[in-house]
Amino acid sequence: MSKPKVAILGLGIMGSGMAGRLLSADFPLAVYNRNREKCSPFAGAPVFIAASPRDAASRAEIVLSMVADDTASRDVWLGENGALAGASPNAVLIESSTLSGSWIHELATKTAERGYRFLDAPVTGTKPHAASGELLFLVGGSADALEAARPVFSVLGRDVFHLGPVGSGTLMKLINNFVCGVQAASFAEALSAIDAGGLDRVKAMSILTGGAPGSGIVKRIADRVAANDFTPNFALRWMAKDLAYALGEASEKGISLQTAAAALSVFQQAIAEGHGDEDFSAVVKSMGRRLNS
Ligand code: NAP
Repeated sequence: MSKPKVAILGLGIMGSGMAGRLLSADFPLAVYNRNREKCSPFAGAPVFIAASPRDAASRAEIVLSMVADDTASRDVWLGENGALAGASPNAVLIESSTLSGSWIHELATKTAERGYRFLDAPVTGTKPHAASGELLFLVGGSADALEAARPVFSVLGRDVFHLGPVGSGTLMKLINNFVCGVQAASFAEALSAIDAGGLDRVKAMSILTGGAPGSGIVKRIADRVAANDFTPNFALRWMAKDLAYALGEASEKGISLQTAAAALSVFQQAIAEGHGDEDFSAVVKSMGRRLNS
């Protein structure tokens, strides 16, 4: 079976890995990034480097967006020269960024008005998983659209969960990241208490990571602390974004996420201290927990 033509909109940490993976699997590929410098790794490769999302979408049967937030998504789909202005009528449009539920529903309405098939398909996994095709896709939308997109998901991911209608993938992703964000914030607070109490950091971290609190996310942060390496795989500001979107989504459903609100304030403090572009694990570096600061 011939491989569908794919357009990737957004060549950040995740989009660049996904595009590279599709390229190495010989998918016909078009890419777009707002800042053109991020297209340079693809120069010389058999990839069409598009000047606009519209230009990229016009060459594709599957159009996948992997951008920062609601504003970025609105820009790439609906902006002047946005993808919706150029996509062919039979294309499947996929939004894989982690976005708010309200924006996903608005975007789904706009795509339906124009007759497109649309999926929200955010992912779990981070930089290395994007590059090696080991993401987990959390999909909302019709089974028909999912089947059309499956060849792409199969190369980019280790599994696909179909969670229900449009918006279901996003809701699951926001719940997933709210739990991760709360654990990260609590581990950051734990390290502050360890330091303030004069405990041996290495011993204390090994007790926490080797015991019941040692979740995958806590272990990932502990590894970053041990290596003193906070180069971003997942930027701290995007964890704050996800906590804020999770709070909004829950509030629309009449639920109060008190732990998410507390974690968001921990991440906002870290952003205020200049850590927003570092890995989310840099939340441990925030000094805002000091009562006399
Ligand atoms: P990133 O490295 O910061 O890349 C962000 C991308 O969004 C860049 O291509 C950026 O373009 C683009 N962008 C931002 N504002 C834009 C605008 N107004 N118009 C057009 N493009 C815009 O982020 P990432 O880590 O790849 O994450 C992308 C999405 O995946 C986010 O929603 C994130 O929450 C989600 N996610 C990330 C991870 C992870 O581990 N990194 C895991 C799962 C999900 P420029 O280069 O021009 O700024």
